[in-house]
Amino acid sequence: MKSGDAMNLTRRQFITASAMAPLAAAAGPTSVKDSVPAQAQPFDLGSVRLTDSALLELMERNRDFLQGLETDRLLHTFRLTAGIPTSAEPLVGWEKPDVELRGHFTGHFLSGCALMSAGTGDTMLRGKGNLVVAELAKCQKANGKGYLSAFPPSFFDRLKAGQKVWAPWYTLHKIMAGLLDMYVLARNEQALDVVRGMAGWTKQWTDSLSDEDMARVLRVEFGGMNEVLYNLYAVTGVKDYADAAHRFDHEHLFAPLADGRDELKGLHVNTQIPKIVGAARRYELTGDARYRRIAEFFWTQVTQHRSYATGGTSNDEHWRSDPDKLAGELGYSTQECCCTYNMLKLTRHLFAWSPEARYFDYYERAFFNGILGTMNPKNGLTMYYVPLATGYWKVFASPRGSFWCCTGTGVESFSKLADSIYFHDEDGLYVNLFVASELDWEEKGIRLRQDTALSRGEMRLRIATAKPVQLALRIREPYWTDGKMTVAVNGKPAAVVRGGGYWVVDRFWENGDELRATLPMSLHVHPMPDDDTLQAIMYGPLVLAGDLGREGLTEEMRRGGDNPPQMPKPPAAPEFVAESRDPRSWIELAARTPLTFRTKGQSRDISMLPLSRIADQRYGVYWRVTQKQA
Ligand SMILES: [Zn+2]
Repeated sequence: MKSGDAMNLTRRQFITASAMAPLAAAAGPTSVKDSVPAQAQPFDLGSVRLTDSALLELMERNRDFLQGLETDRLLHTFRLTAGIPTSAEPLVGWEKPDVELRGHFTGHFLSGCALMSAGTGDTMLRGKGNLVVAELAKCQKANGKGYLSAFPPSFFDRLKAGQKVWAPWYTLHKIMAGLLDMYVLARNEQALDVVRGMAGWTKQWTDSLSDEDMARVLRVEFGGMNEVLYNLYAVTGVKDYADAAHRFDHEHLFAPLADGRDELKGLHVNTQIPKIVGAARRYELTGDARYRRIAEFFWTQVTQHRSYATGGTSNDEHWRSDPDKLAGELGYSTQECCCTYNMLKLTRHLFAWSPEARYFDYYERAFFNGILGTMNPKNGLTMYYVPLATGYWKVFASPRGSFWCCTGTGVESFSKLADSIYFHDEDGLYVNLFVASELDWEEKGIRLRQDTALSRGEMRLRIATAKPVQLALRIREPYWTDGKMTVAVNGKPAAVVRGGGYWVVDRFWENGDELRATLPMSLHVHPMPDDDTLQAIMYGPLVLAGDLGREGLTEEMRRGGDNPPQMPKPPAAPEFVAESRDPRSWIELAARTPLTFRTKGQSRDISMLPLSRIADQRYGVYWRVTQKQA
């Protein structure tokens, strides 16, 4: 048998099939209500459709990538471990049969299929996800005791004994999260059975360890084991899962954060963020405010004191410096993509507790500059690090040769690009992101279409409703409009109340009503906190990258292999002299191409464009800018 994929539909058949069979878009199943009610809630993925062609194109490339993966290859090492015959060609990169993280990507694959099918009604990926779940169930049955992994349980013995092993719980977390996503988002009941089996095995394993032993185990990266187990508890009401989750609440990390102390220096970044997402879930389920403090203090430290202009964090995967010391941290392995993915997840929780625009000022920055540009739009392959030292370039995974952690979070990110544009409460709607899209708010009986041309700084919302409906439309006032945003309803200045960073228009909305907002964008600098002559240039929410050409770059250098490559030192970066602190004194809008700029009066002038649009050239984000002496 070459492949388990029975579905070889043409594109036309696919579009018809998905249009005919959208997934019911009801709220996911829950058994235990959050003890802290959310102040604002996201919409189900199926309620929001992107109409932005550039974003749709990226989702399409992601779909092609997921659809192109052979399920027998994704299952190969699971079958080997379970003693089930398999003749599939093994995957390589981090999925190679002797790599200790093997199996992690199959979990991300399931999440990607679930997210994509919930968001776009994609029946092909849902079917493919279902098939993988069914085959994983067979592996689990063959293993016995609920154990399911692409490596044997002896890895956990090594962990227990304090012997060297990569990150077995990290890997299991990806598989459990993928299965739970297949249940919650794609209604696959078998996936729930399988993940419950895994949770049972987990409970037994953790029960066999003293708190001391467990503390030692938690020194090895374990992803979001607390989060997935809390989520499983919420879905099933089985308290055992919450108890097992709590064993993964990492006090060593949490205690200083709860006391408002930043002891993050030296830590591996992406090991920590998922634990905090788990802490956020614990707060929501138990109401224990200590876990809220942990999540909020962590978020503030990372986004306000440990992030670059792009919203990304980490250098060589670590926080290597004290807060606000970032000037020395620029390299070719800055800003691991998994960190951005996980920080966005965390931000959604914090916003739900306290819907304030500042959360989406960060979300927008990280989404536009740290997610969107990390896929090669030609082939759907994604990045590991986003180099931020000047003169480097973007390196993308190889099609079947990488399967990095970030390949995994990448397929999830690009399966949910419509996520978080809107949130809501009983009384109204939060418009958080300026992304062209349509919202179908079934309970209120309204549809809303957002047309946004960010390059022109305009946003328009049009309402379709069978009968007038009272609603507060809350439009985020982005920090970058500098107080110059305006809002009009049906062509007239609107009666607006400002609160929490939103412009609120609360009225009866009728069919055909239109709200227009102007979102004036201007050039501004984002200097390093510890060196204000080292500056990134922004236009509205977009970080601009300088185009430094393709000299010396080969195809080979732009493709990663088993691991992201060591990158040779680039040529010296250009430096700039500014007439004044205002970047318009040395950068101007280029005439014809939207969102393109050019420096002026420099010894070497360069073009600048949004970082997300840089694909195959050397670029720079931070520049040495000195002020002209008067
Ligand atoms: Zn990663």
